[in-house]
Amino acid sequence: MNPSVLDEFLHVSRIAYFSMEIALESDIPTYSGGLGVLAGDSMRTAADLELPMVAVTLCSRAGYFTQEIDAGGRQIEHDACWDPAARAVALPAKIALAIEGRDVWIMSWLYEIDAGAGGSVPVLLLDTNLPENAEDDRRITDKLYGGDPQYRLKQETVLGIGGMRMLRALGFRIQCYHLNEGHAALLCLALLRRTRGTQRPALHAHTSLYNVDEVRSLCAFTTHTPVDAGHDKFSYELVARVLGPWADLALLRELGGEQHLNMTRLALNLSEYVNGVARSHAEQSRRMFPGYRVHAISNGAHLHTWTSPSFRALYSRHFPHWCHEPETLSHIDVVDDDELWQAHAAARAALFDFVRRRCGLALREEVFTLCFARRMTGYKRPDLLFGDLDRLRRIARGHPLQILIAGKAHPHDTEGKCLIEALHRHIEALRPDVQAAFIPDYTMDIARLMVAGADVWLNTPLPPLEASGTSGMKAAFNGVPSLSVLDGWWLEGCIEGVTGWGIGSASDAAPAHGEMLYEKLEGEVLPLFYGDRAGWLKLMKGVIGHNAVLFNSQRMMRRYAAEAYLRHAL
Ligand SMILES: *Cc1c(COP(=O)(O)O)cnc(C)c1O
Repeated sequence: MNPSVLDEFLHVSRIAYFSMEIALESDIPTYSGGLGVLAGDSMRTAADLELPMVAVTLCSRAGYFTQEIDAGGRQIEHDACWDPAARAVALPAKIALAIEGRDVWIMSWLYEIDAGAGGSVPVLLLDTNLPENAEDDRRITDKLYGGDPQYRLKQETVLGIGGMRMLRALGFRIQCYHLNEGHAALLCLALLRRTRGTQRPALHAHTSLYNVDEVRSLCAFTTHTPVDAGHDKFSYELVARVLGPWADLALLRELGGEQHLNMTRLALNLSEYVNGVARSHAEQSRRMFPGYRVHAISNGAHLHTWTSPSFRALYSRHFPHWCHEPETLSHIDVVDDDELWQAHAAARAALFDFVRRRCGLALREEVFTLCFARRMTGYKRPDLLFGDLDRLRRIARGHPLQILIAGKAHPHDTEGKCLIEALHRHIEALRPDVQAAFIPDYTMDIARLMVAGADVWLNTPLPPLEASGTSGMKAAFNGVPSLSVLDGWWLEGCIEGVTGWGIGSASDAAPAHGEMLYEKLEGEVLPLFYGDRAGWLKLMKGVIGHNAVLFNSQRMMRRYAAEAYLRHAL
C-alpha cells in the first residue's frame, strides 16, 4: 500500500458520503441527473468549506449513456465508456465480498475534488473490473442504473457493503455515514453486523442481537423520492441468492419490510437523522413513512460551478467573497442595470453559439428564449408547453419566442422516450412560427450554457412529484427567473413577480396547468420582457437577491454539517 496518496486524508476522522452517482466533471459519465449533480455539488462545497468528508461511489466504467437522437426523434443509447486510469489514481487495497457464493474482488480509484482555496475531498470510485473476478462480476460496476434487479442489487451490495469495507481497508476513520438516497442502505446493515456482541435489550428478537442504537447514531439519510414506486425494493428470494448466508433474512424483515427489502425503510430504521430535500418533500415523506422524524434541508447548487463566466466576473467585481459567502449577493441592487444586461447578453451569446454549432439552428438575438432541460420522464411533463400548438403560435405572433429543450430518458423508461419523440414532432410542427430545438446528450456542460443563456427557465412537474429540482437554482445564479409549477424548491423560492412566476398550486387540477402556463407567458412574461426592460432587470436582481443567496450548496452543506453531522461528533 502506497501511503503517500492518501496520507493527507487519513489524519482526521471523516464523514463518509455514499452515493450511487456523482457528477465529478461533465465528461466523466458517473451521473445520470439531479441526484448525481447534487452529490457532486455537495462534495465541491465540502472542499470549499474544508469539511472532513470522503465520498464513495461506483466507477461506472460504461457510464450512464450517451444520447443520440435519430431522424425520427428516437433516442439511441450508446455506452459512455471512460478510462478511470486517465482521470483518477488506482489505490492498491483490494477487498473481497461474497456475492452469489463467489468472492468478488473490489478495488478503488481516488479522484480528488480540489477547491481553489485549498480544501480537498477524496472520492473513492469502486471497481470490480479485476482479472481475479469472473467475467460477469467484472461488469458489476459498469452500467449506472443498468440491468435488471439482480444487477442492481449486486451494485448496491458493492456500494454499501464494499464501500464500508474499502474505507476500513484504506485506513479511513469514519465518524458519520451520510446516505444520499437509499441505494447504499446495505451499508447500515454491514455496520449493524459489526455490533453483534455489544447488544443491549431491544423489543424484537433479531435486532436484539445487535446494537441498533449505535448504528443509528452513526448514520444520516437523505431521501429524494416522493412516491412509493420510486423506492428500491428487492424480493427476499433475490436477496438470499445474492447475499447468501451473510443476509440474516429475519433481521432484514424486521428492518427493511415484511414483503420485500425496501432500501428506504432499511435506511430509515438505521439512521437517526433523516431529511427530505425541500420542506414540502419532507412533509410528503412523513405522510409516506408515518412514525419517522423527517427533517427538511432544502437542496442547493454549487454557486461557482453553475455561474457563467460573465456573471462570475460581475460578482467578483462587486462582491469579492461571493463564492464563500453567497449572502453578499443580497446587495445585488448596487450593480448597474447595463452591466447586468451585458453579463446576461454574454451568456446568451455563448448558448446561441453552441446551439448553432451543435444543432445548426440560428437563434435570433433579440428574441425571448425559453429553456427546459432535465431528465425526460412522465412526471416532468416536458410536453406541457406543447399541449396546444395553435395557442403557442398565436402567443408567438404577439411576442416572438424561441425554445430550447434537452434531457435524457432512462433506457427502460418507454414513456420518457415517447415524450422525446413527441417533442420532435412538436418542434417540426411549430416551424416557422416558433424556432425550437432539442439539444441531444444533455450533460453538465450543456446545462451550464442553458441555465445561463435562457431568458426564462421553465419547469412543469406534476405535483407533488418534484422532490426539489435544482436546475432552477442554477438559473437563479445567472439572474434567470423561473416560470414553474409550484412544487419542490419553487414553493419556497417563488415570490410572484419578484423571482419569477408560479404556475397553479398543489390544489389545482393538473390538466389546468397547461392553460395557466400559456396565460402567464402571454399575459405577464413576454410583455415584461419586450415592453419594460428596466422592469426585467429589476426581476433579474430579485432572482439573484432572493434565490441565489438561499438556494446554494454553501447554505445546504453548512446545515448538513450543523444539523446532521455535528450531532454524531458530540
Ligand atoms: C441540474 C441538472 C439536472 C437536474 O435538474 P432538475 O431541474 O433538478 O431536474 C439534471 N441533469 C443535469 C446534467 C443537471 O446539470
